[in-house]
Amino acid sequence: MAETLLEARGLGVRFGDFRALSEVVLDVAAGSLHAVIGPNGAGKTTLFNVLTGRIAPSEGRIVLAGRDVTRLPAHRRVHLGMARSFQVTNIFADLTVAENLRLAVQAVSGAEPWVFWRARTPSREKVAALLDEAGLAARADWRAGDLSHGGQRALEIGMALAADPRIIFLDEPLAGMGIDDIHRTKEMIHDLVPARTVVLIEHNMRVVLDISDRITVLAQGRPIAEGAPAMIRSDAAVREAYLGS
Ligand code: ADP
Repeated sequence: MAETLLEARGLGVRFGDFRALSEVVLDVAAGSLHAVIGPNGAGKTTLFNVLTGRIAPSEGRIVLAGRDVTRLPAHRRVHLGMARSFQVTNIFADLTVAENLRLAVQAVSGAEPWVFWRARTPSREKVAALLDEAGLAARADWRAGDLSHGGQRALEIGMALAADPRIIFLDEPLAGMGIDDIHRTKEMIHDLVPARTVVLIEHNMRVVLDISDRITVLAQGRPIAEGAPAMIRSDAAVREAYLGS
């Protein structure tokens, strides 16, 4: 059995009287791709927010690599190896793909942007590795703004990887993509493991069933099923949650 990198126990989130999450249990194995699925409003984004420290849970605890991080603010969790790729883009459209990644590396290494030419040589290998990991090596010299939507999402993921996270949270990385981009991005995400651990929210069920090691299904803020894709596919409660939504 692989070690558990991220663990949640009895997690609950309340917004006023409304319970967005209740009694959520999660075990994410190191080096695995763990998907969180569920109908709209099930609490997936809230779960990401609470795991990454954006909001505090009302109950329960979160353990990262054996350390209780429940009360740690988001930036401290980043230092412990958590990263999140946002749908809001932070890409500089007029810079090349490689330059965007170089800036991301320098941002995490603490170099000031106005001396970024100085750090250019030391980070070259790192940038090359990120280009590979994001599946963008062939487009390194493209203007970032000229990438397809999928290419830009891949670049955002590459930029999130600049901090060298152990675990990365991807919130609907395939949203709005055409079929070619979906295929390419799916492969890229799949290839992140086992070097990284990935927690994925994704609506494209075919992709989720195809690339996930484990799947947790939420409905109305509660986990209703957890297991390998083959098990989730045939789970009666999961079918009901989706048909009923
Ligand atoms: P999902 O990502 O699965 O679609 P969310 O986590 O976004 O679900 O939302 C879960 C529920 O919590 C929804 O009913 C949503 O309206 C509610 N919710 C989310 N954020 C807040 C908030 N800040 N205040 C009040 N209710 C919220």
